[in-house]
Amino acid sequence: MRLLKNTLFLLISTVFIINIFSCSKNNYYKRSEFLMGTIVEITCPDQQAIDIAFNEIRRVENLLSKYIPDSEVSKLNASGKLKVGPDLLYVLIKAKEFYLASNGAFDVTVGPLVDIWKKAIKNNVLPKSEDIKNAKQLVGFDKVLIDEKESTIAFLKEGIKVDLGAMGKGYAVDCAIKKVRDFGVKSCLISVAGDIFCLGDKNGEPWQVGIQHPRNKKELLDILNLKDQAVSTSGDYQQMFVVGDKRYSHMIDPHTGHPAESKVISATVLAQDCLTADALATTIFVLGKEKGLDLVNYYNNSRALIYTEDDIHVFDMF
Ligand code: ADP
Ligand code: MG
Repeated sequence: MRLLKNTLFLLISTVFIINIFSCSKNNYYKRSEFLMGTIVEITCPDQQAIDIAFNEIRRVENLLSKYIPDSEVSKLNASGKLKVGPDLLYVLIKAKEFYLASNGAFDVTVGPLVDIWKKAIKNNVLPKSEDIKNAKQLVGFDKVLIDEKESTIAFLKEGIKVDLGAMGKGYAVDCAIKKVRDFGVKSCLISVAGDIFCLGDKNGEPWQVGIQHPRNKKELLDILNLKDQAVSTSGDYQQMFVVGDKRYSHMIDPHTGHPAESKVISATVLAQDCLTADALATTIFVLGKEKGLDLVNYYNNSRALIYTEDDIHVFDMF
């Protein structure tokens, strides 16, 4: 609480990054840009490192975005088979790992179902069960073949597509942090919406990241003190669907074909890398708190803070 008196709050989607003012130490620069469909913010004492980090995030977006027509992901989705570069190969290997570890709850081929539910919000009409059944035929990471040696990806069924929305932002943060580190900078905070990495510390103090209350924007649930750690927060309050008067999660349960009904309203995951934190935060929405925590525990050095609809209960593992 003492620190709160000297803090500057900055709202970035689901999190607040709290900067401690310091008079005599390093000066920090902070820059924001709209990339990957959201606000990217970088705080660092070195302006050149900030440029390097933004360039890297742009590079990753140009490879992984399904909205950029000549991205590698778009080419793969269009052709169903492609020799890919090391970034997409790595991300899809990780996607398979999360798919297997979550028993299919995390599945980057879930796009056809996401599209159906997006149309539902637009028209304010629930999808037909026939449409859901048909879309489910095109969902399943078991229909994605990865040949690591040849660096090729092949879809085993026509119409399969990958959507890396649930892990691409985390990966971009990791890549940008690596570039900044290689450049020799030891202190930097990069956030792509709720996906954050805190490199080093800030003038000898840990970086502080506040978690927004899922139902009250102005309230903080917690303040995390972080050093060389990734943190991702997913909340249903950012992009949920509302059809009629019912709220639907923007995470889809690939097994049911419906929006996840796990009652999770906010999931924060701390991990060694941001890709893992991002993917796990998404998966918790589908698995729910108990199975979600089991999954997080399976990953060494990962921890979670989960709030549910029922009790806004805190699983305080910090
Ligand atoms: P948030 O913005 O809440 O942090 P993310 O951006 O991490 O969430 O994830 C949203 C993305 O997850 C969307 O692109 C959506 O298509 C995708 N998605 C939805 N359900 C699943 C799922 N079960 N497995 C993997 N990706 C999913
Ligand atoms: Mg995610």
